[in-house]
Amino acid sequence: MNVFETVESEVRSYCRSWPVVFDRATGSWLYAEDGRAYLDFFAGAGALNYGHNNPVLKQALIDYIQRDGVTHALDMQTVAKRDFLETFTEVVTQPRALDYKIMFPGPAGANAVEAALKLARKITGRESVINFTNAFHGMTLGALSVTGNSMKRGGAGIPLVHATPMPYDNYLDGKVEDFLWFERLLEDSGSGLNEPAAVIVETVQGEGGINVARDEWLRGLADLCKQHEILLIVDDVQMGCGRTGPFFSFESAGITPDIVCLSKSIGGYGLPLALTLLRPELDIWAPGEHNGTFRGINPAFVASTEALRTYWTDDKLEKSTLAKGEQVGRVMSSLVDALPGTPMLAKGRGLARGLSFETGELASKVCRAAFDRGLLMETSGPEGEVAKVMPPLTVTDDELAQGLDLLAESVHAVCA
Ligand SMILES: *Cc1c(COP(=O)(O)O)cnc(C)c1O
Repeated sequence: MNVFETVESEVRSYCRSWPVVFDRATGSWLYAEDGRAYLDFFAGAGALNYGHNNPVLKQALIDYIQRDGVTHALDMQTVAKRDFLETFTEVVTQPRALDYKIMFPGPAGANAVEAALKLARKITGRESVINFTNAFHGMTLGALSVTGNSMKRGGAGIPLVHATPMPYDNYLDGKVEDFLWFERLLEDSGSGLNEPAAVIVETVQGEGGINVARDEWLRGLADLCKQHEILLIVDDVQMGCGRTGPFFSFESAGITPDIVCLSKSIGGYGLPLALTLLRPELDIWAPGEHNGTFRGINPAFVASTEALRTYWTDDKLEKSTLAKGEQVGRVMSSLVDALPGTPMLAKGRGLARGLSFETGELASKVCRAAFDRGLLMETSGPEGEVAKVMPPLTVTDDELAQGLDLLAESVHAVCA
């Protein structure tokens, strides 16, 4: 028995899949204390898009800490926050013709979601929110109420209310027109559906099993929201910051959400930072009406600003993410073809990819075989049936090829 087993709560989870003690990390690699190297194709569930301890961001942080730059400042005005706000506007929103006010809701993705839901209810005076099958939005009560997974919902201990799930893209047989059900309910005054304040959606469901919504589905959803004066919230906590290629995952659909949630990689270095972006006319908060002690950790602003300047002032990262993603997709498709006796499905967009198996047991065996070979991957989906591949976006070509070889070996070892 080690101290993690004797002292740390049973609630711990990822450490059970990778039962070693990690000590150092650089780029796409994590090193256990015995020195063994692991190629990290999980990337902090999308919090490490720029890799572990990225040297450019690290230097900016070291310089900031060395000169006694402010670390904690509630939501006071600091130079680091000003640099972040100016850079985010210059590099991210203005070039995309997006006009958003930036709210700092607290450090985690769940905080960004809670703030979005609260604001949508405050604006519309309505209680109900539409979410989608297999959605994941976080573990606090409001975020959990719009999350699908029954095990996670079960942890709430009180009723999770005011949310109505609708079928996500391709949830049905792919033949039934996707919005038929939702549209019918909205238009029929006898349907029993309470008028929703908002719809909350992920463009690609990361935790839900790498389910990709088509651009035309997202456009249909945005139109429906507009027609019925429902606010559209895109939860880009995992798929934002370039995971699918462009900075925001909804860019290829050409939609403009009313509210956008960002966290995970927005802190750049794996530091906690979250943003709730809102159309300016929705900014009806009273001062302090949503508050918190950790709403803007200044070192996270410093790392975030540096990441935006380094990776988002041209389209190099976006293009390489798309190309690398296609490479992962090709390897996955060739595995599907090579093992006709094991039904598999290759899924994903950009560098959010998944190989879906018939059972969670098979997917977890594949991830276990990958771990034994020095590759970190996790499962996702309602039954954990999808082996998820999410390397840092900064993964080198050699590392990507190496990881994909290990993936192929693992799949063959388990399924052949
Ligand atoms: C991870 C995640 C969250 C929750 O973020 P936390 O920082 O874990 O609270 C919310 N939405 C999506 C889509 C996520 O992937």
